[in-house]
Amino acid sequence: MTRKLILKAGREKSLLRRHPWIFSGAIGRLEGSPASGDTVEVRSAQGAFLARAAYNAQSQIAARVWTWQEDRAVDAGFFRDRISRALEMRRSLGIARSGNAMRLVHGESDGLPGLIVDRYGEVLVMQVGSAGAERWRDTCTDILQELCGPACIHERSDADSRALEGLPERNGTLRGNLPEPLLIEEHGLRFAVDVAHGQKTGFYLDQRDNRALAGALAQGKNVLNCFCYSGGFSVYALRGGAASVLSIDASEEALQLARRNVELNGLDDGRAECQCADVFVALRKLRDQNRSFDLVILDPPKFAPTAAFAEKAARGYKDINLLGFKLLRPGGILATFSCSGGIGDDLFQKIVAGAALDAAVDAQIVHKLGAAPDHPVLLSFPEGAYLKGLVLRRAS
Ligand code: SAH
Repeated sequence: MTRKLILKAGREKSLLRRHPWIFSGAIGRLEGSPASGDTVEVRSAQGAFLARAAYNAQSQIAARVWTWQEDRAVDAGFFRDRISRALEMRRSLGIARSGNAMRLVHGESDGLPGLIVDRYGEVLVMQVGSAGAERWRDTCTDILQELCGPACIHERSDADSRALEGLPERNGTLRGNLPEPLLIEEHGLRFAVDVAHGQKTGFYLDQRDNRALAGALAQGKNVLNCFCYSGGFSVYALRGGAASVLSIDASEEALQLARRNVELNGLDDGRAECQCADVFVALRKLRDQNRSFDLVILDPPKFAPTAAFAEKAARGYKDINLLGFKLLRPGGILATFSCSGGIGDDLFQKIVAGAALDAAVDAQIVHKLGAAPDHPVLLSFPEGAYLKGLVLRRAS
């Protein structure tokens, strides 16, 4: 018997707009006792076919849509087709011109909810974040091996969001062996990536083009890079001719990677300094010491994973941006980011405007930024636009 998810009356609107999530509160009834990971046919209360989706009994997001087509079966062929299309999209945009590391599959935005695949040279890293993707994990591994021929496929399914989906954490190599060190190339720079222990899948690929932009703005400047992780923005700023770069992160492991990446590019010529500290504290200290900078980069972790955390997150963003503005010399540049899905573009800009006002600084937006094009955003899924950035110039 076909497993079915029948919606409550009137709850099909978001699906008709092709939004791929069904929240548990929208379910009228289930037929055929689906288990987590099973494919269900989604129908309106009137019985109209809407989609085929992966069911999850444990999650608030009770189903994620695989396909809107009634005549499309969700089987190995379906995944082969979706993964092939994701690879083709990257090829057609020429993303490989920027280096040998990129996101190959970006979850919902590539029609594969819960599946992330990043390429680091010869290594693929897979992150499985939903019950549906978990069910098809082995199939997808086989398809990736066949289509990409990597030396290694490693799984990093240990994001906090796994718990929300009722899935256990997993971190291990599925195919081949992880090379050590694993070096990637990005816009002509080299980076060591720690796929097994690093953050996310090892590197923040989404910031690739924003790092290049910051590098181009760094000539002759005193740069402050807050939340530097493995030194991405710092390495670009050093290559861009910065006079000095102070990098701050709370993680000593991240700073070790950052130092290594500075060395790897032959940029360890005395201009770079690393500090292990809480940025919220460090910025106050720098202010009390009357320090100032020409380029300040703020790329904090997700303060608001969902909209429910938005208010607390807003206070965090306001605080660091206010301090960032205060540390900026007249004519200086602030590059500020939020990767919180729960904070939209407009709200982020409002928070930053409030911070400038409280810091008594006039500023202009000179760039509005998002994630690199290998992290596309499906028009019907605005939640995909998690990364937003503003580059602002303080009035001189
Ligand atoms: N800009 C980086 C990515 C930053 S990720 C890049 O381009 O690669 C966010 C970083 O913030 C992580 O490295 C994490 O260790 C660090 N972090 C989180 N909370 C922090 C805090 N309160 N103070 C300092 N660093 C923090």
